[in-house]
Amino acid sequence: MKTFVIVNRPDEQSENLAQYLKEELSKKLEWNEDKPELCFTIGGDGTFIYAVQKYCDQLSDVSFIGIHSGTLGFFTDYLNTEIDDLITDVFNKEGTIVESQLLEVTIDQNEKVYALNEMRVENSSRTQILDIYINDEKLETYRGTGICVCTQLGSTAYNRSVQGAIIQEGLPVIQIAEIAGIHHREFQSLGSPIVLKEDSIVRLVSDNYDGALLCTDSNSRKLDGKAEVVCQLSRRSVRMMRYRRVSYLERLKSLF
Ligand code: NAP
Ligand code: MN
Repeated sequence: MKTFVIVNRPDEQSENLAQYLKEELSKKLEWNEDKPELCFTIGGDGTFIYAVQKYCDQLSDVSFIGIHSGTLGFFTDYLNTEIDDLITDVFNKEGTIVESQLLEVTIDQNEKVYALNEMRVENSSRTQILDIYINDEKLETYRGTGICVCTQLGSTAYNRSVQGAIIQEGLPVIQIAEIAGIHHREFQSLGSPIVLKEDSIVRLVSDNYDGALLCTDSNSRKLDGKAEVVCQLSRRSVRMMRYRRVSYLERLKSLF
C-alpha cells in the first residue's frame, strides 16, 4: 500500500481539511510520517516549501501534491473546495511526476543548504560589498543590501518583488537579481537581473560578511566570519505529482 502524509498550515480551515483528507485517503493508503511516498500540503505556496524542506533528505522517495486554501498557487493544483476531486484522482489516476531541481548552496566549501525558491545574501545593517563570479569569471563588485538567486519556481516569489523576470515553467535556469543595489557616479553594478544557463555556478565572495544573513526559502543563518557562498542547480530535485494540467498562465492570472 502506498504511504502518505499531510502537512498543513496551522489555521482552523486547513486543520479541518487535513482531518477530512486523512480519513478519506486512509481507506486506500497508509499514513506514514517518516517515510511517505505521497506528501499532501494544505495551505499556500509557503506551506509547500515548508514540506519540501521537511523532507529534504528523502526527496527522491516523495511526491508532493499541493492543495490551496485560497486561490491557486504555483505549487498547488487543487482548491480546498476541490478536495473530493483530488481524492478521486489519487485513487483512480496514475498521475505524472514533474521534477524540478533545487538550488544547492555551499558555504565556505563545507556546509550545504538547499532551496526551492531562492537563496539570498542580505545585509540590512550596513552596505554589503561582495564580488560576483559566474563560472569563475568575475562579473562585478556589488554594493548594496544583497543578492537574490532564484530558480524558475522561485521567480514569482521574492525575485518578483525585486523586479526580477518571471520565468515560464519548464525552463531550467537560474536568475540573479540585486536587492537595493547602490548605483551612483562611483559605484556601478549591472543593475538589471540576469538569467543564466542551468549549469552556471554563481559565487559570492566577501572580505566581510559580518551582519549578513543567508536566507534559503524561509530559513536563514548568519554569515558572520564566512567568506564565500556558492550557488548552483542541484542534482537534488523535488517531485510534484500532477493529476491534471493547470496552465501556467492560469496560475499567474489567478495570483497577480
Ligand atoms: P511566506 O509567508 O511563506 O511567503 C510569503 C509570500 O510568498 C506568501 O504569500 C507565499 O504564498 C508567497 N510565495 C512563496 N513562494 C512563492 C512562489 N514560488 N511563487 C509565488 N508566490 C510565492 O514567507 P516565508 O516563509 O518567510 O518565505 C517563503 C518564501 O516567501 C520565500 O522563499 C520568498 O520567496 C517569499 N517571500 C517573499 C517576500 C517578498 O516578496 N518581499 C518576502 C518574504 C518571503 P502563499 O500565501 O501561497 O503561501
Ligand atoms: Mn498564495
